[in-house]
Amino acid sequence: MQKKLIIAEKLEAVEQMGAAISHEIRNPLTAAAGFVQLLKEQTLSPSKRNEYLEIVQHELASAERVIQNYLTFSKPGLDKIETMNVKKELGHVISILRPIANQNSVEITTNFSIIGDIEGDRQKFQQCFLNVIKNAIESMPRGGQLYISSNYSSTHIRIEVQDTGLGMTEDQIRRLGEPYYSTKGAKGTGLGMMVVFSIARAMKGTIKVQSKINEGTVFIFTFPSVHPHSS
Ligand code: ADP
Ligand code: MG
Repeated sequence: MQKKLIIAEKLEAVEQMGAAISHEIRNPLTAAAGFVQLLKEQTLSPSKRNEYLEIVQHELASAERVIQNYLTFSKPGLDKIETMNVKKELGHVISILRPIANQNSVEITTNFSIIGDIEGDRQKFQQCFLNVIKNAIESMPRGGQLYISSNYSSTHIRIEVQDTGLGMTEDQIRRLGEPYYSTKGAKGTGLGMMVVFSIARAMKGTIKVQSKINEGTVFIFTFPSVHPHSS
């Protein structure tokens, strides 16, 4: 009885999300289609043409991200558990986001402990930090400092993502992870943090947030560490 109820609730949540997702995807696709239309114009200057192509690319990437987030959330069971090195995985995420950071004049500093293995689904771990780090970059529209570090102890791995961005009020912090909660208008989906919380929970992690308006935010994650020499 209990179980059935949970499944029904889950299905309902997934259905609701499906409706929201199609809405979220329509915006970037409509924008992309609009610029493709403009690109058909024969008299466009090469620089305008490039500008429009970049917008199309950007909008398609944002549609892709919505789908990616949705998949992560709707298939929590399809984990492929492996042992991964935190430094390596975060390094990969940072390389994906570096162009956006550069565009926003955000300087990235990292300080990773060399040892530090963690168990989980690689793709989801990357997705989790992609969402967190992207939020950090987006919180610094006029540039700033992004500091990402990891620390290893025999029991835990601690990962910090710190920005010098807009910061959040207590109420904003409380609402983090609430589906569709976003302060970014049409640019946001409000799904990123929900996915972050769901992945961290699945990996037995904890999340702490400290933030101050106009000063910045730090997200502190801890995950159980895997001992390099034990089974
Ligand atoms: P989205 O990024 O699409 O708005 P998220 O779920 O990723 O959705 O984030 C929800 C909200 O949390 C953001 O709109 C923003 O208000 C707030 N937020 C998350 N990370 C930060 C951060 N590093 N600094 C300031 N605000 C943040
Ligand atoms: Mg986000």
